[in-house]
Amino acid sequence: MLFAKVIGHAVLKAKLIGNIRESRVAHAQLFMGPRGSGNLPLALAYAQYLLCEAPEVTDSCGRCPSCSQLQKLEHPDLHLAFPIFFAEKKPKTCDHYLPQWRKAVLSEPYVDLDLWREYLDTENKQLRMGVDIAQEIQGRLSLRSFRGGYKVMLIWLPELMDTAASNKILKVLEEPEPNTVFLLVSNDSEQLLATILSRAQLVKIPALRPGEVSEVLRERFPELKEDEALTLSLRSEGDLLEAVDMAEKGEEELFIFFRDWLRVCFGARIADAAEFAEGFQKMGREKQKALLRYGLYLIRQCVLNWQQVPELVRTFGQEDEFVQKFSSLLNERNAEGIRSELELAHVHVERNANPKLLFMDMSYRMMGFLRKGR
Ligand SMILES: [Zn+2]
Repeated sequence: MLFAKVIGHAVLKAKLIGNIRESRVAHAQLFMGPRGSGNLPLALAYAQYLLCEAPEVTDSCGRCPSCSQLQKLEHPDLHLAFPIFFAEKKPKTCDHYLPQWRKAVLSEPYVDLDLWREYLDTENKQLRMGVDIAQEIQGRLSLRSFRGGYKVMLIWLPELMDTAASNKILKVLEEPEPNTVFLLVSNDSEQLLATILSRAQLVKIPALRPGEVSEVLRERFPELKEDEALTLSLRSEGDLLEAVDMAEKGEEELFIFFRDWLRVCFGARIADAAEFAEGFQKMGREKQKALLRYGLYLIRQCVLNWQQVPELVRTFGQEDEFVQKFSSLLNERNAEGIRSELELAHVHVERNANPKLLFMDMSYRMMGFLRKGR
């Protein structure tokens, strides 16, 4: 990946390149950034620059044999590790899943865990890295560099390593081999072992700016109008993957479901709420999460309107009308409760709660909140 293909982060790119050019290459670096920020593309661009045979001042050359191998994620000195699911009778190492990982990352370098799961065809299964992968990593490091330069070990989402695996990796980080560079690409530092954190140089990657996201959206979806693209990018809070997802799916369906469900809750119509719970169950996990995130966004708009900061409200078409009406039902007692209810449901969906029970439970509570709003 060329740095030029990575969206935004101009200052950070210049700094990373400057460090390599001045031979300040830390042997372990933690590319830490939220989902959709581009920490993986940045790490891949960094690896490419490090291995490029004719690097230029602002980017890799993009033409040398090393660059072309790296662009296919097939460079012999780029070693890759990532979370997988443990299936019976299948090896618990990355090597086995490398073709799928390449495919996932080459088609969407901003890939996240959910998207990766789709390539593995393992809806709802837990992905992790165990000791077999740690051993695999150690084995790779014992190989000599193919081209005589750096060896790069890129570990995607190291926070999903088991403790035993983390401890093995820690040993390697403590006694670095010469010319070996670890690039840890993480979304969540809280889950990482503190000792691993303390041994890696932090490369902090902020979320993208709304303008950067909307530019990408307009390139990928030429039919989007400028203000629609900007709205989606603001709504995604700099998460490119989320913004693309919203642009792809359209939100009409989510909007209608959410609005009609709130009407049912407002009317305390329990039998109808049960039907919505059935509908929620049928959506599948990703869509359930998308609905809850969308609901949170819409409620946030209502709260802004209720707090009389309409200049911050970002809505379109039918949403406008909804926000006007629904914000009149909000008050000090229920606004926070409704928000945290949706947030909690999102957490529970991620943890594989029974969707129907969860949704029914939430409906009852929503009825309570809306009664207070009258
Ligand atoms: Zn090159």
